[in-house]
Amino acid sequence: MSRTHPEAAATFLRDSERAAWHDEALWFVRQKRDTATALPEWEALRDAGAALKAHAMGRLAELLETFEARATAAGVTVHWARDADEHNALVLDILQGAGATRVAKSKSMLTEECGLNPVLEANGIEVVDTDLGERIVQLAHEPPSHIVLPAIHWKKEEIGALFHRTMGTPAGESSPDALAAAARDHLRDALLHADAAITGANALVAETGGVVVCTNEGNADLGMHSAPLHIVCVGIEKVLATLDDLAVLLRILARSATGQPITAYTTHVTAPRPGARMHVVLVDNGRSARLADAEMRSALHCIRCGACLNTCPIYRRSGGHSYGHVIPGPIGAILAPAVDLKLHRDLPFASTLCGSCGDVCPVRIDIPAQLLAWRARSAAAGASPAGYATIFNRLGWILADRRRFDRAGRWVRRALRLIPSALLAGRWNPWTRAGRELPLAPRESFREWARREGRLK
Ligand code: SF4
Repeated sequence: MSRTHPEAAATFLRDSERAAWHDEALWFVRQKRDTATALPEWEALRDAGAALKAHAMGRLAELLETFEARATAAGVTVHWARDADEHNALVLDILQGAGATRVAKSKSMLTEECGLNPVLEANGIEVVDTDLGERIVQLAHEPPSHIVLPAIHWKKEEIGALFHRTMGTPAGESSPDALAAAARDHLRDALLHADAAITGANALVAETGGVVVCTNEGNADLGMHSAPLHIVCVGIEKVLATLDDLAVLLRILARSATGQPITAYTTHVTAPRPGARMHVVLVDNGRSARLADAEMRSALHCIRCGACLNTCPIYRRSGGHSYGHVIPGPIGAILAPAVDLKLHRDLPFASTLCGSCGDVCPVRIDIPAQLLAWRARSAAAGASPAGYATIFNRLGWILADRRRFDRAGRWVRRALRLIPSALLAGRWNPWTRAGRELPLAPRESFREWARREGRLK
């Protein structure tokens, strides 16, 4: 049986030094995002992002058919896959039909979701993930821990040791420049000699029949412009109506993801290169069912920017692998239960409901509301994690009555006063161990403090 989120998070937190810098690294990205989104029109852009995604979901079938017609007219072969197995079989068939044995793949969470790599490798096809972070986790035989920064949990010294083992870089080398240079040589070779390139897509544009791919490393572009065969694997929810919609998406995506005005490479492919072939595999894999679920439908609007992960206090302190799902963090916690509620029943509870994920989401997905709705569904299905029903029933009983609430508050304050400060600040406190200088719980209640300060009569 797989581990629950709290169990996996406890393992992650045992390495307190890693947990502390993981938290800080992601908070740094969140702050970059804050700077990049300090635009007078930012909230209007979020409104537009939410509206254009809702519009596209409302006309999904029509937009996909328009995309297919335009792309086909331009010489692209479009396929439809109902689920992960169909997707993998289609891609394998295309590659085998072309006699391809070496594939350069650029980052695609969809292929992770479908488990494509093991299928291709079992059929004798070598797959090299060419995004640097993806290559690191591939060499380490791990799944990505973040949707934009797949190897964010790796230290540079560990990457140096991994590259030494797998690429023969000098022992002890941990300079980011030297490691990046070694990875560039290694990946360039894979990209230039591949029989086929597989990429994901950040958007499909119905108006043009085009596929839009955004990267900062240029690996997707190098792959698709070098190999004689380009396969795009993409979820059906990525379709947009027009180029104007794409302009909004590009402005909100990079600012939310990495705090950049725009990604270094943004490529809009509308036809195969002369002499080359291009296939697009449109994948459903549960998305239509999600569309039919009015309460949870807006989760399909996600543009995979990762901003909700970077801001989430639980994700930052528990690491992506603790979620046990291909998409971690707050968005994963509302996507995973739709795949298997029983298996992922603990994920909607992996949240403080602070609301920060909803506040940063560039397409205004109300993630906290969906987390709550999944908790309710989980309870209704009898799938809540052990003990949760008892705890929340008790809590509800206390909160439902003012006198009970006041009495419980007094008991908690008394109990806190009995705990020696040394216990709270000591090394055995996991939060202190993680390097966090958290202020101790106040010795007085908010009401007592407000009275003392003369703010409450
Ligand atoms: S839910 Fe919103 S913030 Fe989170 S990854 Fe998706 S678009 Fe970004």
